[in-house]
Amino acid sequence: MGQKVYDSKAWQLLRQAYYDSQHGICEWCGSPGDIVDHIEPITSENVNDIWITLNWENLQLLCLSCHNKKTFRKHFAIREGFGFDENGDLIVSKT
Ligand SMILES: [Zn+2]
Repeated sequence: MGQKVYDSKAWQLLRQAYYDSQHGICEWCGSPGDIVDHIEPITSENVNDIWITLNWENLQLLCLSCHNKKTFRKHFAIREGFGFDENGDLIVSKT
């Protein structure tokens, strides 16, 4: 999903420009980061919508650790009671 976007020249240029604009610093924790993330995630519905995929306002620069936190939080929301710890291991909350 979103593979074509990430392969496109336009994305490569935008990604690099955004990375440079943030000086390679994670916007969440201030550590060096190199993941240009879409705040509004790309889905099969919006993958051809350049206002999502190539929108400067929809980007944030994250380090791997913060990117994982964002991704895992989403899993928490989807499956109540399940989540991931800092190492990425599956945990089941005892409720
Ligand atoms: Zn970070």
